[in-house]
Amino acid sequence: MIPSMPVTVVAAKPSEPAIPGNHRYIDIGVNLTDPVFRGYYHGKRKHDDDMEAMLERCRAAGVGSMIITGGSLHESKEALELASQLGFYATVGCHPTRSSQFDQFRGGPAAYLEELDKLIAANLAGKGRVVAVGECGLDYDRTHFAPAEVQRRHFRSQLALAKKHHLPLFLHSRSAHKDLVQILREEGYDKDGGKEVGGKGGVVHSFTGTPEEATELMDMGFHISVNGCSMKTEDNLTAVKSIRPEWIMVETDAPWCSMTSTHASKRHLAALPPSLSSLYFPQTTKPESFVYGRAVKGRNEPAAVGGVAWVVHRLNEGVPFEKVTEKAWKNAVELFGLTELQ
Ligand SMILES: [Zn+2]
Repeated sequence: MIPSMPVTVVAAKPSEPAIPGNHRYIDIGVNLTDPVFRGYYHGKRKHDDDMEAMLERCRAAGVGSMIITGGSLHESKEALELASQLGFYATVGCHPTRSSQFDQFRGGPAAYLEELDKLIAANLAGKGRVVAVGECGLDYDRTHFAPAEVQRRHFRSQLALAKKHHLPLFLHSRSAHKDLVQILREEGYDKDGGKEVGGKGGVVHSFTGTPEEATELMDMGFHISVNGCSMKTEDNLTAVKSIRPEWIMVETDAPWCSMTSTHASKRHLAALPPSLSSLYFPQTTKPESFVYGRAVKGRNEPAAVGGVAWVVHRLNEGVPFEKVTEKAWKNAVELFGLTELQ
């Protein structure tokens, strides 16, 4: 433990035991606008709105801040609103699987892009600000929502917003690494995160690629963020292990990408001290038998980001846990310009 390290864990009531260690987190990818955090699943109400209780669990687990993902024009507005209410941050952009929205928009793709541009310009400063353009990118596993060609066109157009506003990119890349890096290179992001063309790098979130792909991204000046989906198989773990400390970030992608007992990450989580395990993975109940204050089975929460960091720590033999968590924190603060968290 570093003595000068700020203590960011939740202020425990005098009767409660102190939380061991100094582990603080910025969950850089959380879909907090998802209705499941209000009790709605597939349009059906299953339990009370428990956003507050969920956030309390996150604070207790050392989650100091979050970046709320915006996946479309509409959702980006919601993300910004929630971020300003809660004192977090947001991204503004359009997810590849929703990129048909550009063509369906009244006024067409140029008007949609202009709306994103205006939204960014109006929210560049202060509490709840936009800290990245995205999530944008390519998803070739899900081309039924938007064909690959449509995805490529609207991914490319969003890069202009990142250059114009000197914002990092929040990138989604699924089974599309080759095309993603080709477009990035063609648009001036071939080195130093696109510094020469006004870019400020970015992060490939929910990374599920190979060690070679990770190396190519890092060499171009991009960070790599991992979550439960990045640690499902032994091959995944080998790729996560290959991420160099200066480029790593952690996230949950909540409510998605929970770590489960069938994942390769499981054997590493088995070594997580119980005092931390109870904070990162609190006891759950099914949505049907919801109890206010309890986590919900199957719904991932940002509190679990510590579990992600723990697996990264276990994959990097000899590197203390605090070193991993502080590096991930520092990387996020620097890339996204979260100066108030320095
Ligand atoms: Zn994504």
